[in-house]
Amino acid sequence: MQNQQRPSDRRATAELLARHDQAGPRYTSYPTAVEFSGAVGRADYEVCLAAANEAPGAPLSVYVHLPFCEERCLFCGCHVIISPDKDKAAPYVGLLKEEINLVSERLPERRQISQLHLGGGTPTYQSAAELSNLLTHFFSKFQATPDAELAVECDPRVTSEEQVDVLASHGFNRISFGVQDFTPSVQEAIHRVQSEKETLELIERARTHGFRGINVDLIYGLPKQSLETFEATVERVIEFGADRAAVYSFAFVPWIRGHMKNLEETDFPDRDLKFSLFAMARERFLAAGYVPIGMDHFAKPDDELAIALRERRLRRNFQGYAVIPAEDVIGLGVSAIGDIRGSYVQNLKKLSDYGNSIRDGLLPIERGVKLQGEDAMRRILIHELMCNNRVEKAFIAERFGVDFDSTFAVDLERLAPLVDSGLAQIDDQSISATPIGEMFIRNLAMCFDTYWRDKHEGQDRQTFSRTV
Ligand code: SF4
Repeated sequence: MQNQQRPSDRRATAELLARHDQAGPRYTSYPTAVEFSGAVGRADYEVCLAAANEAPGAPLSVYVHLPFCEERCLFCGCHVIISPDKDKAAPYVGLLKEEINLVSERLPERRQISQLHLGGGTPTYQSAAELSNLLTHFFSKFQATPDAELAVECDPRVTSEEQVDVLASHGFNRISFGVQDFTPSVQEAIHRVQSEKETLELIERARTHGFRGINVDLIYGLPKQSLETFEATVERVIEFGADRAAVYSFAFVPWIRGHMKNLEETDFPDRDLKFSLFAMARERFLAAGYVPIGMDHFAKPDDELAIALRERRLRRNFQGYAVIPAEDVIGLGVSAIGDIRGSYVQNLKKLSDYGNSIRDGLLPIERGVKLQGEDAMRRILIHELMCNNRVEKAFIAERFGVDFDSTFAVDLERLAPLVDSGLAQIDDQSISATPIGEMFIRNLAMCFDTYWRDKHEGQDRQTFSRTV
């Protein structure tokens, strides 16, 4: 175990945590999903799609949600449908194909995609034949640009080499594997037992097909984790040669995800240990030459995420960090979220409602939010912070025609305590996170979030996860 923090560093860190660890948004969108409401619905989506069609030639990003899983992992915070019986899920691909028809017929001039992401749930819950059927239909309506990023999330426990082969045959070139932690006692505690061997075999298979940006997801803050065992997991991921790793903070939200009540709370690492788990993982990835990407990702220096960061082209959306972002994101599938022409729109979350809407030939929208007032400006500012850990004042001032310091006077005041704590720096040109402040980047972003300030601060516990 090589936790290189000195005792005085650890004391300082513990003090920072005590002062600044709080519940808050993750900023995969701005405004965040808690602002979504039924005030934005199907009619608004029709208008957005019509407006999007007026930008011929501009490629789209598409997210497809495949929600099924065979069993529930106790830490899971995703929108999933548990069904050991695969026959129940069989009609879903047909519904998705219908939704692809509904959307594509409204976008006759926008049929190019620069990004396709299959997420879940477990995309590889669907058989190789079902995936092939879905993708053949998708690519009969949309065409990938030559450099498109076609990505899939895989659970190594249920993914076969045949499925990887099928995805590769449809042009998929990015793949992400869920691991969380290789330690048997942790895996048992979270009800997700998977061997290193099956993960490594699939990584190798993906490599032979030329997949790039091979990613492994880890989670810190899970029951039974210790510095020693989590370090062993991190070391194995580095040895596997993963191009990227995401090290997510476990969000314990049993009031939202009732199954989390089955986790043994006494097994959780305390706040200081939880932070040390992340600090150790960060240290190990950096020592192995990885570059920190945003809040919780790491990439090899020659990985395109690291290159995009250096060139300030990195983008972030609901699917994580992206290199070839499109201005409009189409969400397909139950509960999927799109981001199109200044509005976020979310599909119906209940499978039966989603199915009924599609069968009636109606776009299956449940809710959303339209950007208004300063939203677009604040969205870009927060995005810059989350991607680059800094924002240039001139970039915002010139783009939106404002005087930065007077426009954000209240926000800068709210940032002052973080500056005093050594987490943020403000000068004439920019606002940036210090190296320790990068781990508190959500706290910095929250200073610029007027929804947080006006509506959620102080009554946040039931809605948001901890920031660290
Ligand atoms: S496989 Fe993934 S999506 Fe499904 S329950 Fe487990 S963590 Fe959640």
